[in-house]
Amino acid sequence: MAEPRLRSALDGIPSYKAGQRPTQLPGVRTFKLSSNENHHEPLPEIVAAIEAALPEIHRYPDYASSELVEAIAVRFNVPNEHVAVGTGSVGVLQQLFQISSGPGDGVVFSWRAFEAYPIMTQIVGARAQRVALDADDRHDLDAMAEAIDDTTRMVLVCNPNNPTGTAVGREALARFIERVPDEVLIVLDEAYCEFIDPGRIPDGLSFYRRHSNVAVLRTFSKAYGLAALRVGFCIAHSPVAEALRKVQVPFGVSTLAQAAAIAALQNEGALMDRVRAIRQQRDLLEAGLRGIGMSPAESEANFLWLRLGADTMSFAAACDAAGLAVRPFENEGVRITVGEPDANAQFLGVAEAWMARRS
Ligand SMILES: *Cc1c(COP(=O)(O)O)cnc(C)c1O
Repeated sequence: MAEPRLRSALDGIPSYKAGQRPTQLPGVRTFKLSSNENHHEPLPEIVAAIEAALPEIHRYPDYASSELVEAIAVRFNVPNEHVAVGTGSVGVLQQLFQISSGPGDGVVFSWRAFEAYPIMTQIVGARAQRVALDADDRHDLDAMAEAIDDTTRMVLVCNPNNPTGTAVGREALARFIERVPDEVLIVLDEAYCEFIDPGRIPDGLSFYRRHSNVAVLRTFSKAYGLAALRVGFCIAHSPVAEALRKVQVPFGVSTLAQAAAIAALQNEGALMDRVRAIRQQRDLLEAGLRGIGMSPAESEANFLWLRLGADTMSFAAACDAAGLAVRPFENEGVRITVGEPDANAQFLGVAEAWMARRS
């Protein structure tokens, strides 16, 4: 029987691999360290805001997310018209592809970076212009600038980068942005920017303020702890932000998500205390891994990257057998989300035992 004819551009798209849940083992505490989630439960103020919005769920959400857009604009000191919200920053990212790139166009990004980039490039029928990370697992911005050609419509800079956690510094990014032609859209994917050291790593908004081709992508999923509610946003100049609104999924950001994101901004101080605690845990874990002879990449995010090459799956299996779900990329490395102190201690124990067995 004949099948419906679908777009051939979709053939061979790898399916997105979501972080696994830990295997349940009798008598073992299990932790999910595979999706870069924030392990803190929602603040009571945020739960209360969601509960207050519940009686309205028979109505459609506010189409323009006006109150949320206003709150974001005030928080980041940008005009309301420069804010576009969507169903997670991945939803907004898909919109960025839709407004910039189609068949025959090129999209430049590092590899390995966020898994969604090649998938979305292929969905819109564009061509991936991948540039290898440098020896420190950082974006090679010079090579990325050189990869741009007449077909390039968009450049993605994941800062800090998922899955390596590494970030590019202010001067390097400034030099790069100067080199990119004004007609090419530069997207700074800053899903983890709240976890950086602001002394060394730039705030993408400072570049957006000076360059009309820079768009900054942010999310409520990580530092703000609202991953299940799917809300992210882009701050960009008018033609870009306006185009993003044109292609938005109608009513995509739910009433509950809008209410929770507003409450998160209102309670940012308490949330950033938690971010600081996660950062401290990250630094402890990074030092602990170095102490047992491992070499994590220098992380500016809420996760660590161990380039283990051929040993990747053996290490991930050892974690799994101890009740810890991590995120392996076969033959490349393992990404480990920083969890609560007990989870991190358990992980360090597993890593130490694995190293001892190996030597
Ligand atoms: C987690 C993540 C996002 C955010 O995804 P949401 O759709 O907002 O949950 C975006 N970019 C990168 C690089 C990420 O790792």
